[in-house]
Amino acid sequence: MAKQPIPYKIYLSEEEIPKKWYNLNAAMKIKHAPFLNPATLQPCGADDLKPVFCDDCVSQELNMTDLYIDIPEEIRDFYKMYRPSPLVRAYCLEKALGTPAEIYYKFEGNNTSGSHKLNSAAAQAYYAKKQGLKSVTTETGAGQWGTALSMATAYFGLDLTVYMVKVSSEQKPYRKEVMRTYGAAVIPSPSDTTEAGRKILKEFPGTGGSLGCAISEAVEKAVTSDSCRYVLGSVLDHVLLHQSVIGLESKAALDKYGVEPDVIIGCVGGGSNYGGLIAPFMGDKIAGKNNIEFIGVEPASCPSLTRGKFVYDFCDSAKITPLAKMYTLGCGFMPAANHAGGLRYHGMSPVVSELYHEGLMRAVAVKQTKVFEAAEYFARTEGILPAPESSHAIRVAIDEALKCKETGEKKRILFGLTGTGYFDMAAYKQYNDGTMTDYIPTDEDLEKGFASIPDIPQNK
Ligand SMILES: *Cc1c(COP(=O)(O)O)cnc(C)c1O
Repeated sequence: MAKQPIPYKIYLSEEEIPKKWYNLNAAMKIKHAPFLNPATLQPCGADDLKPVFCDDCVSQELNMTDLYIDIPEEIRDFYKMYRPSPLVRAYCLEKALGTPAEIYYKFEGNNTSGSHKLNSAAAQAYYAKKQGLKSVTTETGAGQWGTALSMATAYFGLDLTVYMVKVSSEQKPYRKEVMRTYGAAVIPSPSDTTEAGRKILKEFPGTGGSLGCAISEAVEKAVTSDSCRYVLGSVLDHVLLHQSVIGLESKAALDKYGVEPDVIIGCVGGGSNYGGLIAPFMGDKIAGKNNIEFIGVEPASCPSLTRGKFVYDFCDSAKITPLAKMYTLGCGFMPAANHAGGLRYHGMSPVVSELYHEGLMRAVAVKQTKVFEAAEYFARTEGILPAPESSHAIRVAIDEALKCKETGEKKRILFGLTGTGYFDMAAYKQYNDGTMTDYIPTDEDLEKGFASIPDIPQNK
């Protein structure tokens, strides 16, 4: 095939939106350890999960054998509103850096919610509707997940209650209005609408709330309401499955020009976007078909992969979810108050944790001032105002490209640009004002979080 020049943006056609998701679990030779029921410490079966999550999501969660899973036509129709997302050759960034490397990024911020989260929100809302449920609940911190889910529930005709951490709802009032515009009821948490909320309000009047508290309220509302389920925006295997559209589209676009990446970089919060981006490439690596280097990037202030423990832990700080075997800082871990860049989850997807544990990928932790430096550089060269979360990946992509400048290597670098930063201007303001600081937790700080890891025989 004659070599065609690679355009700035490689678009796929609507027909090329994937018809099946890629189930990385089926490709993995060593499966991650099962979720455990915290009461019995036995592996969770479908019956343990169905009171909380939708039936189809539970089947997907437990599916370790089917490499491909059909994307229902209704979900593909929703995807058509904003997919395929562009795969961009970062010519301007390459030129500014003076690197011989080729840099590509998959941009997931081209929808109103501003991030990749819509890929799973659409799927989960569809399955809830298909099951005949009337409503779903969730929690949101920064607000991207709540926004994505409100778009999806509006489209599929479900009621949605979002418990939004009270400080966030005060700091980001416009995020709240976006959700309300899509029909969601947004309740600042803690609230007096649940037992859990009332208890916390009584104990800590005037508290700004926490994600753990918001989760407790959302789960309580789901299990005490008829025809209602709780939905989650990251970490779980079915969320990674839905996010595999990112990786499948990236691969299809690069294949058109015969490009195979040498390095794939992504930010890791709960791990769903990165697990989705790498899914088909990692499956091929496990099958011995490529030798791609995989790098997950996390904040130095919330370093679950690089400094966490690989043990069973709760997925939430309220200790009500099943136990997952994962890299974790302890469900009681809270990043320092000056941390502004998102990705503040204490644990990590069991799939990503297992890949890291087996040495199939590596992880890098970066300081937030270096992240915002990269964000600004990227905005000024490529034009897109990136989300702080995504900018963790930009930081390491730039660092890898600069290494190539020294060695003369022409590596092909692909990274995930998960979203836009329009609602994060308070963090950008800190950076621009020069008031942003870095805090790297001491070993002592981490010990406090580790103390919240459950003391069970499986962790001995
Ligand atoms: C939520 C979010 C992330 C973190 O994603 P995970 O899949 O949980 O790792 C990254 N970038 C953006 C823009 C987000 O909104």
